Amino acid sequence: MPALAVRTTCPYCGVGCGVTATPQPDGTLAVAGDAAHPASLGRLCVKGAALGETVDLRGRLLQPAIREQGELRDTDWDEALGRVAGGFRRIIDEHGPDAVALYVSGQMLTEDYYVANKLMKGFIGSANIDTNSRLCMSSSVAGHKRAFGEDIVPGCYEDFELADLVVLVGSNAAWCHPTLYQRILAAKAERPQMKVVVIDPRRTATVELADLHLPLKPGTDTWLFNGLLAYLARSGAADPGFVERHTDGLDAALKVAADCADPVAVARACRVDPALLLEFFELFASSEKVVTAYSQGVNQSSAGTDKVNGIINCHLLTGRIGRPGMGPFSLTGQPNAMGGREVGGLANMLAAHMDLDKPAQRDAVQSFWGAPRIASKPGLKAVDLFRAVEEGRVKAVWIIATNPVVSLPDADQVRRALDRCELVVVSDVVANTDTNDFADVLLPALAWGEKDGTVTNSERRISRQRAFLPAPGAARADWQVLCEVAQRMGFDGFDFASAHAIFDEHARLSAWRNEGERMFRLDGLAGMSRREYDELEPVQWPVMSKGEGSTRLFGDGRFAYADGKARFVPIVPRAPANATDQDYPLALNTGRVRDQWHTMTRTGKAPRLSNHVPEPFVDMHPQDALASGVREGELARVSSRWGEMVARVQHGGGIARGSVFVPIHWNGQTASHARVGALVNPVVDPVSGEPEFKHTPVCVQPFAVA
Ligand code: SF4
Repeated sequence: MPALAVRTTCPYCGVGCGVTATPQPDGTLAVAGDAAHPASLGRLCVKGAALGETVDLRGRLLQPAIREQGELRDTDWDEALGRVAGGFRRIIDEHGPDAVALYVSGQMLTEDYYVANKLMKGFIGSANIDTNSRLCMSSSVAGHKRAFGEDIVPGCYEDFELADLVVLVGSNAAWCHPTLYQRILAAKAERPQMKVVVIDPRRTATVELADLHLPLKPGTDTWLFNGLLAYLARSGAADPGFVERHTDGLDAALKVAADCADPVAVARACRVDPALLLEFFELFASSEKVVTAYSQGVNQSSAGTDKVNGIINCHLLTGRIGRPGMGPFSLTGQPNAMGGREVGGLANMLAAHMDLDKPAQRDAVQSFWGAPRIASKPGLKAVDLFRAVEEGRVKAVWIIATNPVVSLPDADQVRRALDRCELVVVSDVVANTDTNDFADVLLPALAWGEKDGTVTNSERRISRQRAFLPAPGAARADWQVLCEVAQRMGFDGFDFASAHAIFDEHARLSAWRNEGERMFRLDGLAGMSRREYDELEPVQWPVMSKGEGSTRLFGDGRFAYADGKARFVPIVPRAPANATDQDYPLALNTGRVRDQWHTMTRTGKAPRLSNHVPEPFVDMHPQDALASGVREGELARVSSRWGEMVARVQHGGGIARGSVFVPIHWNGQTASHARVGALVNPVVDPVSGEPEFKHTPVCVQPFAVA
């Protein structure tokens, strides 16, 4: 009998494409795009299409292990969980709840994320739980909260197809959000009058689609969008009625933006051709339907939150938000970055988009959970968390589904921190990672295709990830492991029988309605039967009644602040925190390549993906290479004040003088000295805590084998 196709969701980027997965009699997996999934309409990029090549058990962690006398030895769950629960309990009793921490991931399913937050914030009583999503979109979260009163992406993917103008800022969508890029391509082919502007220091693959490319100087986005705000205000493009009825704070924002009123001066600050800058300003002013989408080029900056608000300011001034074909749009990097936000996955958030600093909301969550306590202040954000580990303030850390020894900035500091930490617990699907090397307890987790739950994509669309493969070895779902540890620590409220039961509790909590007008609501998903959960079709929150999602928000001009008005945020432009100098004359920019995902633990298994870019490279301008004494095709040492790596020099043709680009994927398991994270300055945005991955001063030198 032919195997049944299972409808699930891709585990890679935040587009959240629908996948049909069909296990074959010969043990392979057939994968295709799910034509019925509204996010992707049957499309898959090369990574999604290669999923079938990545589900075998090569390299999997299949048995719990504990470290004794420096060596890991396999054990059973009972001993491993006893070690975790006992260690956490002892450290909390001796040093208080803030002496322990969880560091989790946008790879986790919402149900896993929910339980982790419930355990840490409600029962341990500390908000020391942060996520690798801090590295990806926390500036957007902070910008949304400042502008809208809540963390909300107003629009949907369809808006990209309906727009007259799509502006992509700091987004190489062609490689990082490929099927959404394909939707823009198809819409542009159908409506040639549609314009696309790409704002990016690099000439990326995305620029191929652009009518206009602004290769701005790295870090100058706030000058650009302040300049645009000033231009829109004087060009008649503002919507005074919308501003008057639905916003607050324009005068203060315009006062600051007045310093950027001269487009020629802005062009000089951004190092772009003034004529191109004016062309962009005029296009924006004259196009009613504008989508401005942004990604890590905006978020990963010491001014990331200001950059987000600089963009949103321009949409508020023109009233272009919440209606078809228009609005600011944050493209999330990870498959469940958005779902993590829903359960309070960041150290400064509480479940169901409630706030740690609002006593009534804290009380509501505590009483709903029946928790003995509730965290009352924000916890440590990612970079600070690992500093606290190194300083001994955090003595136990449980890392789930992420590889911070590779991915955090100043990654050698993370190594030192974990080396000194009393208790390091790592839950992962992979046996060997740079982070696993420091584990005192290793816990095998279920992978994509084996685990069951939900994810939420960039357009607020909740989709099911469904299991279609048996659990291998002793691997368990993260939520099960978290619940068992919670119970061993003596906590009630963790007797969930399934992911469905967790989702139901999450949906019921979201329906709490005593204070304010929170828009994150899943009322219509609360009380679903197991069958309804299993058959859940992709749906965009808020879901106020059964089967009814919300395509767009703010179309009525009502925002989440108590007075219903959105806020303009005055933006004072500032340069990246660390400037280049004589010793480190080049600005390092980091990012993804088309065919790899994060630290390659899954995509590295598929030969056709590895063939695209086989090794780490440093992309630099030929004149910078000449000045650095390196040649294309040769190995070079790339160094910063924080660390160094080795990569092969290439001239991709898309990089301006003064900058270099290095991809993020390679790690200590794939090649020695290949972690670009070791170079990245650990500077963060003061509001969001997001690191400045896009600007670290470095130098490039010839590599000589000792
Ligand atoms: Fe997966 Fe993103 Fe590719 Fe879609 S675009 S198949 S979600 S990696």
